[in-house]
Amino acid sequence: MKKEVTTKKVFIRTLGCQMNVRDSEVIGGLLSKSGYKITDIEEKADIIIFNTCSVRQHAEDKVWSAIGRTKAKIIGIMGCMANNYREAIFEKAPKVDFVVGTRDIAKIPAILKEIEKHKDSPLLEKKIYETDADFREDEIYHTGFRLDKEHAFVVITEGCENYCAYCVVPYVRGALRSRSSQDILEEIKEDIDAGITRITLLGQNVNAYKYQDTDFIELAQEVNGLKGLKEFGFITSHPKDTTVDLFKALAECRKFNNYLHLPVQSGSDRVLKLMNRGYTREFYLNLVDNYRKMIKDGTLSTDIIVGFPSETEVDFQDTFNLIKEVEFDKAYVFKYSVRPNTKAAEFADNIERQEKERRHKLILDLQKSISRTKNAKKNN
Ligand code: SF4
Repeated sequence: MKKEVTTKKVFIRTLGCQMNVRDSEVIGGLLSKSGYKITDIEEKADIIIFNTCSVRQHAEDKVWSAIGRTKAKIIGIMGCMANNYREAIFEKAPKVDFVVGTRDIAKIPAILKEIEKHKDSPLLEKKIYETDADFREDEIYHTGFRLDKEHAFVVITEGCENYCAYCVVPYVRGALRSRSSQDILEEIKEDIDAGITRITLLGQNVNAYKYQDTDFIELAQEVNGLKGLKEFGFITSHPKDTTVDLFKALAECRKFNNYLHLPVQSGSDRVLKLMNRGYTREFYLNLVDNYRKMIKDGTLSTDIIVGFPSETEVDFQDTFNLIKEVEFDKAYVFKYSVRPNTKAAEFADNIERQEKERRHKLILDLQKSISRTKNAKKNN
């Protein structure tokens, strides 16, 4: 088939998690294959695609204001906001030409061609939205398009059905789906042949990976055994699905990068229950203890939300003290913001902005001092 020739320049602006980073890489590859040029200079672009995040209000606000500022002729929205708002995006931002959901990204080159046909005639102006696919074809994960020549993100699961009370992911990414282990291993082997030596297995909840008889432990062991691979890691882990058996297996995986991101979110059992996290403070601390005993020189990071609805000073102190006790290597701290459609949106967002800021700062300062002491010890 003759490839259509276009010299249109596309700028892809990525917000949010590593899953979006990987999706932008894939869509950049698909568009290049269709004759578009990918540019990293927004001002030079004819087309801008925002790969969006709905996890926090702040991330969405950034997109709304960037749409207002952009001079690009064609504007598209992909990622979680596309699934969260669908065609309502056109009402809120009439400049937007197309909206493509997280499982529909392979349609973008064809959508762009269609929009371009109509763009110069106001009478034929067309808005397109595609947000209803149930799943992605495996080849969209496994495209071979890579920007980084040494490290690759490899998607192993997508979606989540844990329904943490504050989180929009189950609504925008759908139920958990695990990719075929064979296909994942094939993809990594091709990456290795292309010179990549380090990989990160990606998913909203990697520990829940299960494809036929293969679970996450087996997948990690198989990845570890791949010839030519120097190092592997994974994000993100859910404490309730993280086990001592996993640590045992990882301790024997020579290529594991010894890094665990284990979001605790709160140190208060009452808040953890309201958040629907499925573990207690004690369970989490026990997990950390086992990780540290079993993974030599293991590093550990976490996510924390402050100001969750009804979080009292006592709840906050529980979180503060947990951080002091665990001494994370890094903590990502967020002020709670309401996400429409989630369970927590039914609770009153009753912690004042200034109070959220105070708690946020206290934890950031604590973590800074922990990191400083740890670094000083390392350098001695
Ligand atoms: S585990 Fe919870 S926080 Fe993580 S993606 Fe699923 S619902 Fe969201």
